[in-house]
Amino acid sequence: MIPVSTFSGKKVALFGLGGSGLATARALVAGGAEVTAWDDNPDSVAKAAAAGIVTADLHGIDWPAQAAFMLSPGVPLTHPKPHWTVDLARASSVEIIGDVELFVRERRAHAPDCPFIAITGTNGKSTTTALIAHILRRSGRDTQLGGNIGTAVLTLDPPQDGRFYVVECSSYQIDLAPTINPTAGILLNLTPDHLDRHGTMQHYADVKERLVAGSQVAIVGVDDSHSTLIADRLAGVRNDRSAFGAGETEGGNASRRVIRVSQAKPLSNGLYNRDHRIFYGETLIADLNGIDTLKGSHNAQNAAAAVAACLSVGVSEEEIRTGLASFPGLKHRMQPVGRIGQVTFVNDSKATNADAAAPALSSYEQIFWIAGGLPKAGGIASLAPLFPRIKKAYLIGEAAPEFAATLGEAVPYEISGTLDRAVAQAAADASSVEGGGVVMLSPACASFDQFRNFEVRGDSFVSLVADLEGVTMLVEPEKGK
Ligand code: ADP
Repeated sequence: MIPVSTFSGKKVALFGLGGSGLATARALVAGGAEVTAWDDNPDSVAKAAAAGIVTADLHGIDWPAQAAFMLSPGVPLTHPKPHWTVDLARASSVEIIGDVELFVRERRAHAPDCPFIAITGTNGKSTTTALIAHILRRSGRDTQLGGNIGTAVLTLDPPQDGRFYVVECSSYQIDLAPTINPTAGILLNLTPDHLDRHGTMQHYADVKERLVAGSQVAIVGVDDSHSTLIADRLAGVRNDRSAFGAGETEGGNASRRVIRVSQAKPLSNGLYNRDHRIFYGETLIADLNGIDTLKGSHNAQNAAAAVAACLSVGVSEEEIRTGLASFPGLKHRMQPVGRIGQVTFVNDSKATNADAAAPALSSYEQIFWIAGGLPKAGGIASLAPLFPRIKKAYLIGEAAPEFAATLGEAVPYEISGTLDRAVAQAAADASSVEGGGVVMLSPACASFDQFRNFEVRGDSFVSLVADLEGVTMLVEPEKGK
């Protein structure tokens, strides 16, 4: 845990006692703050009280006496309308911040030079975050991985010299971190998302921009128009004269740089993908061909950004190549889980809509595709250009009839109904085909009709694969699921 020393002896109000909220409350208390916490959910309040946190309805507290108000990133700050606690804090001019801001302040107070890499973007955040942390760990560096990826940042070990932080940030967390100042900040891409919470694409982009605007080295994907505009704007106000390395300090302001990365366009002074190889200008830095966990041009974008970040904090090209080649991948995202002869089994359970399934389908040929579940609006019509890659489809869950109608004559299919039947049928078909192929769960659907969530669905797939005759597993199945 990182005890929050910067509010020692001060009163702090906190709303939202989910995982990261509770961790924030504990970290503040451990650092000597007087915390008053609350949540709309009585169970969460009870749990916090049981953990020794002082709880009280925030309608009744002395707001002007609070040094700060901690808001959970899941609670609306601006849209669709500010939460009632936000109105109360603003009425008393109390600053509203979140756990990432507390981390940033602790780092600044205790180890301002320890490398801090922050990652945001609409897609690929978790993959890029995990990849960077893997490269750093593999090279023997003391590495802390957290943030939006599932480990609350304040549960990590405290900042100290030589310790590396890799922190995934959602737009909500950035909105609550006004002084975020990573050593290297990554903005991967921007496509419309979470607009219910940001109102407009512009507001969403503006929030994301803050992460790279505060960075010593700003790493920006330039494969979409919003991110490209941001890269141009930052480059306009920063010197772009040398590529990597820590910036010199000029009157307290680091001299900052912008590194562009692209999965498609050659860049004279940035990192880009050509034939699944990462180049800087004309220099080959890393070859991603043959790395099963980094297939697809979307992963080339993630890898290019990871390479840029690692170079920025002093990791050698050799260490980066070693880390890339041994990346185990993230669970449920195009994750190779087992093999039988020439057949590979891939778990892409995280693909809960057609857009998310597209990268996986684009990354393989000869696919035995397990799809279906609770259908989303639009179904799989948008995937039609990828249908030629699909050898056969195995349809499960409520979406099966609708997906069958869309596949029509274009792709042979079976209505398998359940995941166990789909795995058995697909494995048998793939094994009997010349050259084998890929049996892939990439459902393009939510899971809730048959599973608790996409993780449970993916774990079930892995268990079913593990039970197949003659399989060599690449990952361990989860126990007890
Ligand atoms: P996030 O943490 O931003 O949700 P993940 O790394 O968990 O992203 O990847 C989720 C899914 O998004 C992947 O399964 C893949 O389909 C897609 N994806 C990953 N990286 C990218 C990228 N750079 N651009 C577009 N889509 C991506």
